[in-house]
Amino acid sequence: MTAQLNPRGDVAVLVPAAGAGVRLGPGAPKALRLLAGEPLLVHAVRRIAAAPSVHTIVVAAPATEVEAVRAMLAPVAPVTVVPGGAERQESVAAALAAVPTGPEIVLVHDAARALTPPHLVESVAAAVRDGHDAVIPVLPVVDTIKEVDATERVLGTVDRSALRAVQTPQGFRRSVLIAAHRSAGDALTDDAGLVEKQGIPVTCVPGSELALKITRPFDLALAEHLLTTGA
Ligand code: C5P
Repeated sequence: MTAQLNPRGDVAVLVPAAGAGVRLGPGAPKALRLLAGEPLLVHAVRRIAAAPSVHTIVVAAPATEVEAVRAMLAPVAPVTVVPGGAERQESVAAALAAVPTGPEIVLVHDAARALTPPHLVESVAAAVRDGHDAVIPVLPVVDTIKEVDATERVLGTVDRSALRAVQTPQGFRRSVLIAAHRSAGDALTDDAGLVEKQGIPVTCVPGSELALKITRPFDLALAEHLLTTGA
């Protein structure tokens, strides 16, 4: 059954899903790799669509897969699918351009974080609704972190109590994200980085272990296990 999105919702979720995913090994584009028999993108979209504030979902698919992705997602939720770009930032910009008038909160969520629970979508959106221009879900860093030089010689130990591992969805007031993308220079790995460059404060909210980024074969195995435990 296709999930219904909320026509009164105030949130658009952009899902860049056009990456090749070389770190997962050879095969289909990462978002289309199977997890428990379904593409990562299907898992991700199903959970986004279950968040009650979501009005619109826009997926940026690999340019050659737009029709296939449309057909794949039609039974899951009503989504708009656009061709992505060569860099993640271009894919996000393409999805942002396709958001209809209405939602004033825009979340950017990686398809690779396929098990992200709907409540994380809601808590990021709620923080934007409460007046924060830019919101990111984070987890504390558990490993000791060293800075090294090009020869792998240790330069120093970073104070991990001041570090956070950043997840998605990242949430923004719509106008803030549009302005950040308009003035974007070098490609960055996340959208909050673009907003930081504008001098706009970025606020952290607690992330979720389930929002892990499925990047390497180990992550895929872990995600399979988490699904068997009800994720
Ligand atoms: O490469 P990385 O793991 O940082 O990709 C994060 C997300 O951005 C993935 O969901 C990937 O599909 C997406 N992406 C994209 N367009 C690109 C590169 C990555 O939509 N050109």
